[in-house]
Amino acid sequence: MSSMERYISKTVQHIPPSGIRKFFDLVAQREGVISLGVGEPDFVTPWHIREACFYALERGYTMYTSNLGMPELRQEISSYLQRRLGLYYDPATSIMVTVGVSEGVDLALRALLNPGDEVLIPEPSYVSYAPGTELAYGKAVPLRTSARHEFRLTRDELAARITPRSRVLILPFPNNPTGGIMTREDLLELVDIIVDRDLMVISDEIYSELTYGATHASIATLPGMFERTVLLNGFSKAFAMTGWRVGYACGHPDIINAMNKIHQYTMLCAPIMGQVAAIEALRHGEPEMRRMVEDYDHRRRIIVKGLRDIGLDCFEPRGAFYVFPSVQATGLSSEEFAERLLEEEQVAVVPGNAFGASGEGFIRCCYAASLHNIEEALNRIERFVRRHRSGQARAAGAGSR
Ligand code: PLP
Repeated sequence: MSSMERYISKTVQHIPPSGIRKFFDLVAQREGVISLGVGEPDFVTPWHIREACFYALERGYTMYTSNLGMPELRQEISSYLQRRLGLYYDPATSIMVTVGVSEGVDLALRALLNPGDEVLIPEPSYVSYAPGTELAYGKAVPLRTSARHEFRLTRDELAARITPRSRVLILPFPNNPTGGIMTREDLLELVDIIVDRDLMVISDEIYSELTYGATHASIATLPGMFERTVLLNGFSKAFAMTGWRVGYACGHPDIINAMNKIHQYTMLCAPIMGQVAAIEALRHGEPEMRRMVEDYDHRRRIIVKGLRDIGLDCFEPRGAFYVFPSVQATGLSSEEFAERLLEEEQVAVVPGNAFGASGEGFIRCCYAASLHNIEEALNRIERFVRRHRSGQARAAGAGSR
């Protein structure tokens, strides 16, 4: 223990560092690396959105906003959700603007949990849910998803993990890191258990606009689920706005009010420049967003085919911008694969176990990268896999003699 560590709260000491960060520190020390690692759009925010922010600054938009966010933005969010999902959230009481979906996850967990309450988290999944749960003094309970079920959450798995302490179910679909989605039928399978066991749902729908050959389904649209769901979404992925830090949370007025109680003492409000840009994104940004989604779809097809041609098992992702191939054929663990691939071929991917134990045996590749980089990365991965497969075959041959 270092000299100051004893002053750090036990809760924080127990939180492991993010497996993604650890890997990016390795990548940052090198040059000439092709990165399929970072989960962020390679597009710059569309010009008209940036321009709206310039004009707003010129007009002196440099102040705090209402804690819940600018009324015009809440109105636009309400109209957007009504036209996309057919859901009506009252902009005055049922919508709040957050500092990215990251803050929405934190606020929802802190508003809903009592100490010791259990949060059911499908795995593999985005890295903030389990630490966010611990920071809210809850207990994270992983739910396994598997390639066999295209990384959907099954009714059996949910039923098997519920206890009298279960309070919240997180639904992270479309999923980071697998690219898996839950259709309306898949979600319907879960509804009666959720209602019977009186669970609340935090539905992280940040990738909901990024689906391919499938329509996004929100659990909030299903019978009995509107009031039980805190719906989270934001601008980072669909509108290529990661740096603007704007997201939103929608739900029952009592829950939004509780989340806002924390928000007003911690964040106060999301940055006004980001909120102005978000208004423009919702008013005029959808055609450009659709073009970006078409582009991701093109790259998705190329990378899935490329990985399969190399001989890696790869289920077809229908959402987000990740593929999650199995690397078990190489005999390497996820971390060995990612570290050696970086070392030997200068390609960065993220080991699947960074997203929970059930991600072991897989790697996450983000295809929000240029086609040129995707193709070059595939060439290098092919060389790498060929080398390691033949090494493994030689070792197996020697062992049998
Ligand atoms: N939720 C998921 C599933 C994510 O993948 C990410 C970022 O990668 C976030 C939330 C955080 O998003 P934001 O930039 O809105 O905080």
